Amino acid sequence: MTNETWGQVREELIKRVGKNNYVTWIEPLKLSTLKNGVARFEVPTIFFGDWVQRNYADHIRSQLASAGELVDRVEFAVGEPAKPRAVAAAKSAAKPVARPRVSEDELPGAPLDARFTFDSFVVGKPNELAHAAARRVAEGGPVTFNPLFLYGGVGLGKTHLMHAIAHELQARRPDLRVLYLSAEQFMYRFVQALRERQVMDFKELFRSVDVLMVDDVQFIAGKDSTQEEFFHTFNALVDQNKQIVISADRAPGEIKDLEERIKSRLQCGLVVDLHPTDYELRLGILQQKVDHYRSQYRGLVLADGVLEFLAHRITTNVRVLEGALTRLFAFASLVGREITLDLAQDCLADILRSSDRKLSIEEIQRKVAEHYNIRLSDMIGPKRLRNIARPRQVAMYLSKQLTPRSLPEIGRRFGGRDHTTIMHGVRKIEELMTIDSQLSDDLQLLRRLLQG
Ligand code: ADP
Ligand code: MG
Repeated sequence: MTNETWGQVREELIKRVGKNNYVTWIEPLKLSTLKNGVARFEVPTIFFGDWVQRNYADHIRSQLASAGELVDRVEFAVGEPAKPRAVAAAKSAAKPVARPRVSEDELPGAPLDARFTFDSFVVGKPNELAHAAARRVAEGGPVTFNPLFLYGGVGLGKTHLMHAIAHELQARRPDLRVLYLSAEQFMYRFVQALRERQVMDFKELFRSVDVLMVDDVQFIAGKDSTQEEFFHTFNALVDQNKQIVISADRAPGEIKDLEERIKSRLQCGLVVDLHPTDYELRLGILQQKVDHYRSQYRGLVLADGVLEFLAHRITTNVRVLEGALTRLFAFASLVGREITLDLAQDCLADILRSSDRKLSIEEIQRKVAEHYNIRLSDMIGPKRLRNIARPRQVAMYLSKQLTPRSLPEIGRRFGGRDHTTIMHGVRKIEELMTIDSQLSDDLQLLRRLLQG
């Protein structure tokens, strides 16, 4: 790439990230090299590089792509470009093995996250099988299932396990050529090879590895020529009895626009599901993180019950859970306070709010109707009989209590009733609940059912 192109890209980036961010983070970057799809920039400090990597790397990459530069990774290094943490680079310390034509350094792997090891992976019921299977592959023994297909929702540890396999194999079997990359990177590589008429080199390269790991394979669904090439690579490696590990966000059969023959090949090995985390696993992960933080934030006091509270409330995914804990520790150390429940609630208000289950008025109406054994249509309809009107008021009351909806909004969901009717209903229940113990029991039960 010419400096002119980089100049153009910088113009675009100003628009994307804003003048201030641009001056602080982008302007100081010096492009040092661009080859094999890796753009490397010089940065003033390690911190600077980390920050830019985390916040702007995607912008930079996509702007380079729009300018016609196929870049699948951007790297930032202080001063003299450092060696990337890619498997290939880390492995070059191992004894060179006679391999014709394709040298170690040409392995186009993605960098591995040093934190994603088996040691730091907390095992619980939901990920037990995935963990065991990954361990087995990491032993580097004879291939027993091929491929290992890991799937599950976002943030449940698929990438972590794959990196852990790569780290472990590096340590145990430095003779093996391990290649980890995302399906997206696989595609970029392939497209680049097509463009530069180097498809034969591409094929040779991918067929020369001992262990191939492709992350987020759902990405290639619908990308026809990439799928085709992936299929051939896959078959060639399986034929040579080389281990393949694949991850995706869903089961092979459920990936839309993935060719049937690929689906069925993917199902031939061991297909393992990472289940959503349960309370114990979340607590275990938090505890492990806290142990790790203790050395970093000396003297910080963590009150009892905070971790339990977080594990209970943040159920979305592990990434969010970890983010919450990181923020909490950083905040507490900044203001020099003990980490209490109150502090957690303040500091994490946004995360806690967004992971609250959103309860709808319709759900409330349905549950209440079920409980009192009346028809849902009567809940909304005009009937004024006591045995219908009372449950209706209960549902109004719960809607006011458990959702952020206003009285007029609630009125609309109850067959277009006026907000004063809703207010009346809510007051009525408040009044009755103090004298009618059956009603107050009902309310308690319904609340529990609705809030899970
Ligand atoms: P995925 O690839 O499934 O979207 P990741 O592997 O990127 O998820 O995991 C998201 C984050 O959660 C990472 O920081 C990872 O270390 C962490 N994580 C997920 N599961 C576990 C676990 N069982 N033990 C420890 N950390 C975990
Ligand atoms: Mg992932």
